[in-house]
This record gives sequence, structure tokens and C-alpha cells, in this order.
Amino acid sequence: MGNIIILEETTINPITLIGKRAGVCWGADITDDTKNYKRGMDCITSNHGRTLEYVNVEMIIEGYSARVIREWYTHLGGAPTRLQASTRYIDYEHGFHYIVPESIRIDTKRYDIYLETIHQIQKALVELEELGTPKEDAALLLPLGMSTKIVDKRNLRSLVDMSHQRLCSRAYHEYRKMFADICMELQKISDEWKWIVDNLLVPKCDYLGYCPEKKSCGRVQKRMEG
Ligand SMILES: Cc1cc2nc3c(=O)[nH]c(=O)nc-3n(C[C@H](O)[C@H](O)[C@H](O)COP(=O)(O)OP(=O)(O)OC[C@H]3O[C@@H](n4cnc5c(N)ncnc54)[C@H](O)[C@@H]3O)c2cc1C
Repeated sequence: MGNIIILEETTINPITLIGKRAGVCWGADITDDTKNYKRGMDCITSNHGRTLEYVNVEMIIEGYSARVIREWYTHLGGAPTRLQASTRYIDYEHGFHYIVPESIRIDTKRYDIYLETIHQIQKALVELEELGTPKEDAALLLPLGMSTKIVDKRNLRSLVDMSHQRLCSRAYHEYRKMFADICMELQKISDEWKWIVDNLLVPKCDYLGYCPEKKSCGRVQKRMEG
């Protein structure tokens, strides 16, 4: 079961902040938050993407698989940063948490195979430790299905772009679930975040108005050929 903890450094009123920053460049009155909010909305609806980069999102993402976090790391736009749980200093030899996907959980035979493999890895880790193997070397046996933890920091533009890829029904299901969990936590912060979650954090078919995927799920029509 994954968990998202939004850190206090996350911008509380992102739309107002966007308008406040843009207002500096327009010689506007940035002391009035009603005007800042309106200006922020104008920036967003006009697709002035750079202004979204002033909005900070910092969170702890934990309890999802190392595999999905590996996919998370492919989103480089906006130079995000993160720290991840160490495989040198944390003791995984004597047990690690792991994800069991639904397709495996519901089938006894699959479940047995999955658990037996995890058990074998854990056993090997203990035996390697008893032989004096350095932690960092034995850790190469850890599976992508083990759960991990990161502290992530990125801007809103990066998150919006990520949502287009990862809320797509063709994206890996754990990623879609993790992104939905992030949306759930962000919308609790403020009404402004609720608006952003509802209107900007959407799959690319909603954003584009058509599906660009070769193998479309059919939710939205593909673009008509020339
Ligand atoms: C169905 C599906 C299957 C996928 N399969 C795979 C897979 O098999 N393997 C895999 O590795 N990934 C896969 N992905 C992930 C995907 O292809 C991207 O790697 C991922 O979304 C991150 O890259 P990005 O360009 O979307 O985002 P970012 O790297 O965050 O970039 C965001 C935006 O910033 C700009 N940008 C970023 N870097 C540059 C740059 N260097 N120069 C100029 N502009 C830049 C671009 O406009 C870009 O669109 C898959 C995704 C989906 C939805």
C-alpha cells in the first residue's frame, strides 16, 4: 500500500503564486491576491508554461515498487531532484517489503510462485551476509518489485507534463495508481490545487483532444489522418 506525504515546502496557493510572479513582469499590483489569482488563471489558460515552474511540489513517495520509481525517474524536464532509500545503509538482508500485483494476488498458483521467489531472494541475502558479502553487492539481488521510498522535489510544469503520459490508460497500472494517490493528496491542500488536479493533471488525450498512442484504448478518438 503506497503512501504520499506532501511536505510543507509545497506551494499552498499555486494559481495565486503564478499570477504574483507574472505580475512582476507586467508592472502589476502584486499585493492584491484576487488580482494575482485572476492573472495566474490567465497564464494557465493561455498556456504560458514557464509560469508553472514557480510552483513547488515536495513530497515523500513511499511503499511503491522500485520499478515504478524507476519510471518516475525518466521525467527529467525542469531538473527535478530527489533522494532515494539507500541499498547500502538500510538492512534489506533480513527482509524487505514488496508489491504483489492484483493479477498475482488473485491466483493461488501465481501467488505461490511469486512468494517463493521473494523467499529465495531473502534467503540468499542472509546467506551472502553470513559469508561476509558487502551489503552493496548483495543488494544487486533485490527485485524491482520491492517497495522503496523517495523524497521528490519538482515544479508544477513537470507534474502536469508527467500526468499526460502517466494517466494514460496505456501507462503501467501501478504508476496510474501512484499518480492518482498524488492527485488525491494535492487536492487536499487548497481549492487552487483542487482546480489544478481537476483541470491540468489529466491524460494526454484530454489535453490534446485526441489520442496520439499507436495502440489506443479507444477512450478518445485518434487524430484523423491528413
Ligand atoms: C504507454 C507508454 C509506454 C512507455 N514505454 C516506455 C519504455 O518502454 N521505456 C521508457 O524508457 N519509457 C517509456 N515510457 C515513458 C515515456 O516514453 C518517457 O520516457 C517519459 O514519459 C518521460 O519523458 P517525457 O519526455 O515525457 O518527460 P520529461 O523528460 O520530463 O520531459 C518533459 C518535456 O520537457 C521537454 N524536454 C525534456 N528534456 C528535454 C531536452 N533534453 N531537450 C529539449 N526538451 C526537453 C520536452 O518538451 C518534454 O516533452 C512510456 C510511456 C507510456 C505512456
